[in-house]
Amino acid sequence: VTAASASKAVLPRGCAAPLTEVYDAALLDLDGVIYKGHELVAHAADALAEARRRGMRLAFVTNNASRPPQVVADHLTELGVPASRGEVATSAQAAARLVAELVPPGSAVLVVGGLGLEQALQERGLRPVWSLEENPAAVVQGFHPTVGWEQLAEGAYAVQRGLPWVASNLDLTFPTERGMAPGNGTLVAAVQAASSGAPLVAGKPELPLHQEAIARTDARRPLVVGDRLDTDIEGAVKARTDSLLVLTGVTRPGTLLAAGPPLRPTYLAADMRGLLTAHPFVTRTASGGWACGGWTAGLRGRQLSVTGDGDPYDGLRAACAACWEPPWDEQPLDTAAGVHALGW
Ligand SMILES: [Mg+2]
Repeated sequence: VTAASASKAVLPRGCAAPLTEVYDAALLDLDGVIYKGHELVAHAADALAEARRRGMRLAFVTNNASRPPQVVADHLTELGVPASRGEVATSAQAAARLVAELVPPGSAVLVVGGLGLEQALQERGLRPVWSLEENPAAVVQGFHPTVGWEQLAEGAYAVQRGLPWVASNLDLTFPTERGMAPGNGTLVAAVQAASSGAPLVAGKPELPLHQEAIARTDARRPLVVGDRLDTDIEGAVKARTDSLLVLTGVTRPGTLLAAGPPLRPTYLAADMRGLLTAHPFVTRTASGGWACGGWTAGLRGRQLSVTGDGDPYDGLRAACAACWEPPWDEQPLDTAAGVHALGW
């Protein structure tokens, strides 16, 4: 399949062989894909063990810049997903690589963040500093729970002086057990409001973290696996890398059906077991709708209609094909009845 014909193929795409046979590495998001807080996502551990057994390489790819790779690997291993430090790619590592391309080797770099960024800079031969008095050549900002006003102010002064500014990621929120907390994007916005600069961004959906993960797995045919459309899947689309959306995290069927072209996954599955299987093809019906498994879906005006039975994820695949069919526009579709017919 050439890139040109693949780009015109119906999404979600089918795959006649298990994905583990077609792709050599899985670039895995963590939260909502492998774990939620301290709990494993159902089937993730067993499916990843089986994917490894079949020879697939794994990279654990996180936008969270606060934890060094060893800490992430230890957390995964404790939860039952054995991982080594070399398999982890963090937005802090990607940010440090970006900074290293902008400043001379050995430069001082102002940190607005914590241990994850500090270690990542040191690995790239850069010197983390905490004050403008130490003449940094750049400023790098990533989430850490200890970041406070003094660090944000120091970052704003540095940006006002025209220093290159790299952010690990722009996620506005950070999920905690007590609810949503301000994420790095919110802290970047605070520096931005005081300085009117704009950072280069390393994490998803931008490309540097994706490239870091590919470099670490030496992947030839990588597959992004994620739960979030505007980070994991958008990053995969930007990188022209195929992707598997798992519905174990934040994305609900209605959100998926409303997704514009930059946010559409190649494949979708209920959970990580979708990595181990072939994927059914969506086909055109005689009446101009779309069929998958026991289900048929089509649009009547702007209303989605879904009928049939069997695996509801087949029905969701048919419904996606119907909702995403060109000519697509931004006007919302009425998908509630269709989603209800699938049992959501
Ligand atoms: Mg996630």
